[in-house]
Amino acid sequence: MRLRNNPEALDHLKDHGDIVYINPEGMKGKWHSCFESQDAPLYIEIGMGKGDFILENARRYPDINFIGMEKFTTVLDKALKKALKEGMPKNLIFLKDDAVRLPELFENGELDRIYLNFSDPWPKSRHAKRRLTYPSFLELYKNALKKQGEMIFKTDNRNLFEYSLVTFANNGFVFEDVCLDLHHQEGYEDNIQTEYERKFSKNGPIYRLAVRVKG
Ligand code: SAM
Repeated sequence: MRLRNNPEALDHLKDHGDIVYINPEGMKGKWHSCFESQDAPLYIEIGMGKGDFILENARRYPDINFIGMEKFTTVLDKALKKALKEGMPKNLIFLKDDAVRLPELFENGELDRIYLNFSDPWPKSRHAKRRLTYPSFLELYKNALKKQGEMIFKTDNRNLFEYSLVTFANNGFVFEDVCLDLHHQEGYEDNIQTEYERKFSKNGPIYRLAVRVKG
């Protein structure tokens, strides 16, 4: 059995309460206070997995504050261990929680950008509501994002990508950029790869979509 919420991992997360927030209450509207630079833009990756992407972003862009969000304890603990080993950037914190709780976690307009990377595709239509680009999730993102806030979505899954093009378009977002082969198209040299991206780009193209909340 795959243990995604083991108690040892939870204890380890709790030992690092200064940088890991576990199902927090009372943080809504106050996330900037977690960082040295309180005026910096706030970016979040929802479903960060083992954290390679958000960790490298935090290193590369010290003038932006980052939150890596993941719902499973054991997965988040892997990200934490890696960050501690390599050096936790001051502009990064971790959040153990589920995206369905965004309205309890973030004030309207608190986020500047949301990343969704290689979100679980949930291919069966009876599971469509679990997709992180299902309309009810897009509604939560729209509220948490600033006016004109941005989302960047990457996947190797063509069906999920096509599905998401439609849901973003029909639920209050405007397209800024659509890329059908991220690793072979010019102009994306600054792309930061995720664990899944490194694994699955061998099998076919990586799709990327950038959208903004419709003004
Ligand atoms: N973003 C990483 C990457 O590209 O390598 C991980 C991708 S993995 C397929 C999807 C991750 O999203 C998993 O770690 C999963 O636990 C997390 N996840 C799925 N649904 C979530 C939700 N509702 N809230 C927070 N995290 C979620």
